[in-house]
Amino acid sequence: MSKVRLYVEQSLGEGQSVSLTREQAHYLFGVMRLGVGEDLHIFDGQSGEYRAEIVEAGKRGGLLVCVERTRELQMPPDLWLLFAPIKKARTDFIVEKAAEMGAARICPVLTAFTNAERIRRDRLQAHAVEAAEQCGGTFVPEVAELARLDRVLADWPAERRLMFCDEALVGAREALSGAPGPWAILIGPEGGFSDSERRQLHDMEAAVAVSLGPRILRADTAAVAALTVWQGILGDW
Ligand code: SAM
Repeated sequence: MSKVRLYVEQSLGEGQSVSLTREQAHYLFGVMRLGVGEDLHIFDGQSGEYRAEIVEAGKRGGLLVCVERTRELQMPPDLWLLFAPIKKARTDFIVEKAAEMGAARICPVLTAFTNAERIRRDRLQAHAVEAAEQCGGTFVPEVAELARLDRVLADWPAERRLMFCDEALVGAREALSGAPGPWAILIGPEGGFSDSERRQLHDMEAAVAVSLGPRILRADTAAVAALTVWQGILGDW
C-alpha cells in the first residue's frame, strides 16, 4: 500500500470510478512512480478517505476505483482564520499551517496597512489542498476571496466570537476560557491595525482582544501561535 494521498474533486463512494486530471496523472505516475494495480488513499473533503486502486495509468490521465472507506470525514472545529496577506512565501506559509492546524475556513482580508493588495486565491487553495494531503486530513478548508476588513466586520455574524490578536492586557487563557461555539481569529498585517480598525474591533460585542505575549511576533508566527493557543484551549487537540 503506497503512502500517497490525493485530494479529488469528485464525490467518493465504494466502487466509484475517479478520472484523473493531467496534473494528477503526472504526480501519481511520473513523480510517485505508481502504476496499474497499485493503490493509494484519496479523499474529496466531504466523504472521508478511501483506498483506491489504479486501473488505468497514462501520461494525460488515468482511472482509479474506490475499493473501501478507510476513514470517516473528520471536520475541524468551527474556526475561521482571518489574516492580512503579507509577502507571497509568508502568505503561503500561513495558509499551509492553517490547513494543517485545523482551521475550517481561511479568509484573507485587506486592512488599512495590508502590504499585498492582490492574492491568487486558486494558488492559496492549492496550498490548502496539499497541506491536507500531507497531514492526513480528510477536510480541506476553503480559502475565501480577499475582502475588505471593515466590510467583513460590518457584516459580522453575531454568534461568531472573534479573537482579535493585538497588544492587549488580556492573555489568551483568560479571554478564551469557557466560550465554545463558532470562532474566528484575526491577525493584522506587518504594519498592525489602524486606529479606526482598532475602534471598530473594540466596539464589537463578539470581539475579544487577545495578547500573544510581550514580544511582537511576525504576522506568520502570530497566525501559528494564535491557532495553537485557540486549539489548545477550545479546539480539538
Ligand atoms: N508594528 C505592528 C504593530 O505594532 O502592531 C506589528 C504587527 S505584527 C508584525 C502583525 C500582527 O501579528 C499584529 O497585527 C497582530 O495581529 C499579531 N501580533 C503580533 N505580535 C502579537 C502579540 N504579542 N500579541 C497579539 N498579537 C500579536
